[in-house]
Amino acid sequence: LLAPTTLAGTRDAFYRRRMPELPEVETVRRELAPWLEGRTIREARRVDAPAGPKYLHLEDAVGQTIRAVDRRGKFLILPLSGSDELIIHLGMTGVLTPTRPDRHVRAMISLEPLAEQPDALYFQDTRRFGRFLVAPYGDRSCLPTLARMGPEPLDPEFNAATLFAGLNSRVTIKTHLLSQRPVAGLGNIYVDEALWRARIHPETPANAVSQARTTTLTEAIVAVLQASLASRGTTLKDYRTTTGERGGFAAQLDAYGRTDAPCHRCETPIRRTVLGQRSTHYCPRCQRRAKRPTRRT
Ligand SMILES: [Zn+2]
Repeated sequence: LLAPTTLAGTRDAFYRRRMPELPEVETVRRELAPWLEGRTIREARRVDAPAGPKYLHLEDAVGQTIRAVDRRGKFLILPLSGSDELIIHLGMTGVLTPTRPDRHVRAMISLEPLAEQPDALYFQDTRRFGRFLVAPYGDRSCLPTLARMGPEPLDPEFNAATLFAGLNSRVTIKTHLLSQRPVAGLGNIYVDEALWRARIHPETPANAVSQARTTTLTEAIVAVLQASLASRGTTLKDYRTTTGERGGFAAQLDAYGRTDAPCHRCETPIRRTVLGQRSTHYCPRCQRRAKRPTRRT
């Protein structure tokens, strides 16, 4: 058995390890696009990683040109000039960088040289939850989360009606939003933040959130993602931009990671609970559990 102090330390380290979400992945996308788009791949391979489904068919990318650097939810998708696309998921600890890291490089591509531009992209991933693979264009059969992903929250078409239609489940609103099905790109941090802003208790059944409250939630999701993007995301431990910098949004969090700290609206201590095995933070006063859930007609 671990001594209690060790256990607490372990729990804290795990707690700070979190998956990059939409603002972090979009920040990386914006940094990669200017120097990767239009470049031809000269070499693509696994480095310090076993063969397996996380790093499929990299050799197929050789000779193809990167047409764009796109994003879908938490995935980076690079359509190639042939019939393939390079799909990257940062997992928990994934970092993409043109500077070769000392350790934990799982995959890399090198590019035909171009003056004053980096000639390689390295995928460093300490914990190996990430993916870096080539698949036929539009074939999402090996990526079920991507295949059934909901709308992009920063697309102009995303609105309260779209989200309301997606809240068609009896599971808790927190768990349902994490599934990526009602809306893409939200993980543990931004779900807690959006629910705090919209004053929705995280254990509310998704299909009991009223139409009016869904409108507030829609606005909260867009606002928190845009605010985080403006700070280039949230770094608690691992996430870095492609230039090795930390995202600056952690200082602006209202709920996530603020256990026992006063609510920024009402000064009630923020409560932490575990919901669907995910740490969940909310204000027990601002985010009241409905006495009788609003039934949909
Ligand atoms: Zn409060």
